[in-house]
Amino acid sequence: MTAAILDGAATARAIKDELKAEVAALSARGVRPGLGVLLVGDDPSSAVYVRSKTRACEELGIHHETATLPASAATIEVLARVDGYNRRKDIHGILVQLPLPPQVDTERVLRIVDPAKDVDGFHPENVGLLVQKRPRFVACTPAGIMELLRREGIAVAGRRAVVVGRSDIVGKPMALLLLHADATVTVCHSKTRELAAVTRQADLLVAAIGRPGLVRAEHVKPGAAVVDVGMNRVEDPGQARELAGEDRSDQLARKGYVLMGDVHAPTVREVASALTPVPGGVGPLTIALLMKNTVKAARGFSS
Ligand code: NDP
Repeated sequence: MTAAILDGAATARAIKDELKAEVAALSARGVRPGLGVLLVGDDPSSAVYVRSKTRACEELGIHHETATLPASAATIEVLARVDGYNRRKDIHGILVQLPLPPQVDTERVLRIVDPAKDVDGFHPENVGLLVQKRPRFVACTPAGIMELLRREGIAVAGRRAVVVGRSDIVGKPMALLLLHADATVTVCHSKTRELAAVTRQADLLVAAIGRPGLVRAEHVKPGAAVVDVGMNRVEDPGQARELAGEDRSDQLARKGYVLMGDVHAPTVREVASALTPVPGGVGPLTIALLMKNTVKAARGFSS
């Protein structure tokens, strides 16, 4: 079997196209959606992510602004910036780009974001609403994956889903969304024994681990749909070649790294029925759902 490649970039474009008209309609009524971004420090990946998000705002006509603070910023300074966005009527969504530098109390920062502007879905109030199956703002990556599954016609109800990873931003909300969509869900993590035996039971396997190429053919049940959330920078040419199944030295020379998923695509492709690529899979969907949440915040929640 050769897996169908699930084109997350195309789905993301479709979602953004649908949003464009709504942004125009809201703007015509004097409510131009606005996203306030906070970037602390000089992590190169964070800067790239913020740029992708603000570029998507520009495509859609969403107002955006980015406040930047130095890597040495104290928690109190970060809180003050968030509070500034909380008070602004023209800022409907707030994005605090993670990770924050180690001296900053991330939990405290996420807790003071106005839950009505929490377009990343990280505030405890929004997490609680998700747990109760009354979702308001749901973390963008798992919400994007659900959209992809729905639009690709991949059945969830009644099927066995295994999520590898239990982070607050991907694994846990992913498991809840699949559960609410009537899958039978198992969550794995670094202490799971016999990982491959567990993941091989999955009709739908989501890998959100942060370990390049960890999920191999032996982890996958023949015919399963596999979603690869991982975004790992691989700098070693030998490792990049092994993981990609082909030479990537051109890309390495250009960028200094190759972006690889948590799934070993060359072997998993031969076993799975469907697979999201990296890049061009989950990444663009995350951004599209951030836009969707921002428009929803500007509209005032109705879904
Ligand atoms: P975290 O590091 O927060 O969580 C990783 C999870 O994987 C943890 O629960 C950890 O277990 C588990 N894990 C680690 N090693 C193993 C192992 N050997 N076997 C089984 N489980 C393991 O990462 P995130 O959830 O934030 O991100 C995961 C990946 O997804 C990363 O590559 C990240 O870059 C990517 N990502 C991509 C996004 C996108 O838009 N495409 C958005 C967000 C993340 P434990 O809890 O026991 O430590």
